[in-house]
Amino acid sequence: MEPIIAADGREVALECIGCAISKKEVDPPGGMIAETDYFTLANDFEYPIKGFLIIGSKRHFQSVADFTSEESADFSSFLIKTRKAMRDVLGIQQVTIIQEEKSKDSHFHVWMFPWHEWMKEIGSDIVSIRAIMQYAKEHYSTKEMTEEMAAESQKLREYFS
Ligand SMILES: [Zn+2]
Repeated sequence: MEPIIAADGREVALECIGCAISKKEVDPPGGMIAETDYFTLANDFEYPIKGFLIIGSKRHFQSVADFTSEESADFSSFLIKTRKAMRDVLGIQQVTIIQEEKSKDSHFHVWMFPWHEWMKEIGSDIVSIRAIMQYAKEHYSTKEMTEEMAAESQKLREYFS
């Protein structure tokens, strides 16, 4: 298992990031924002982008096709509440939602990718997202960003509590 550099600069090696977060073996950058019986909400583990939130399942599986009926019901309300929080707390007007099934080192998770003004120079559609993530890693891996993300996480925790 390859070590990764977290958004807040920690170097960690985990077999499955999703399992480690849901079992509270590792703190996501900014800390856990919210959780239900079946899902967690936190900042992306690796990329220092404000409002780049990840909804992860607590169980280890890959696909929405593996949801139980309880997970299905819980997920839709949690997804909607997360998107509303991004708008109402963080002021994010546009989000792209992505779920990939190919992860080797994590389980089911959904990217809630926020669009910010600074990204427009790099691109403004789905094919630009990897380049934007890489740009953020190279330019925003700073103490200030870690602090801003922690402050936003705290506001989001209050919204969900
Ligand atoms: Zn897992």
